[in-house]
Amino acid sequence: MAFMIDSHVHSVFRSFEDFEALSFTGLTDVVSLAFYPVIPSGSTTLIDHFRHIIEAEPVRLSGSYIRVHPAIGVHPRCIPPDVQSVFKYMKKVVDNCVAVGEVGLELATNMELEVLREQLKLSKEKDLPAIIHTPRKEKRIITAKIIDVLREIGYFNVVIDHVNFENIDLVADLDVYIGLTVQRSKLNPEDLFKIVEEYVISNPEKFILNTDLGRDPSDLFSLPKSIQFLRVKGVDKDVIRLISEKNASSLFRI
Ligand SMILES: [Zn+2]
Repeated sequence: MAFMIDSHVHSVFRSFEDFEALSFTGLTDVVSLAFYPVIPSGSTTLIDHFRHIIEAEPVRLSGSYIRVHPAIGVHPRCIPPDVQSVFKYMKKVVDNCVAVGEVGLELATNMELEVLREQLKLSKEKDLPAIIHTPRKEKRIITAKIIDVLREIGYFNVVIDHVNFENIDLVADLDVYIGLTVQRSKLNPEDLFKIVEEYVISNPEKFILNTDLGRDPSDLFSLPKSIQFLRVKGVDKDVIRLISEKNASSLFRI
């Protein structure tokens, strides 16, 4: 059996049984990212959400045959009013995480830009990768703004995530990892295959597959299905191994 790492899940929204079932497809590790589904009324809501991910999730899922690696960050859709207290807390505990995330831009407001800058500075200071969300709407324009911030901070040890045909040419030549989210509403196997032929085969060390499994209705098995689709299409097995396991393993040191 080939092994897989899912570099982007929100495990707090999924059941023990989901991960147990996924383990039988060859999934060995997941990176569990922070995201709160409403705007937190204060910093402690997010801080407790981070504690949930760091302190409780690896223990809860330890019997599921899958290792959970925590990542914490302020998502642009859930910035609390006193976000500075969240940053202070992150500074103290982020060494227990494999990444800062999920961060990024949704509408690219000044507030979102400032929150992204602060967290990229923290990633840089701690030498941790950042996992950066690109939105569904205005994906191209907002991705360009994210790239501006990366240049401003001078930090590229990041995954730019949920990349598709709308923005891939913007990030293809940057020194970053590119996250391809194989999920019903994001990237279907046919489009993934096109991206693999056009971009991945020539530069397979750069790409990482993931699912964004979380609170939205999802195809639980979209990762093994997409990988199997690539196999059947004849994609080189070393390329598949890099994008489904090895690149995530080196980036997150897991
Ligand atoms: Zn996500």
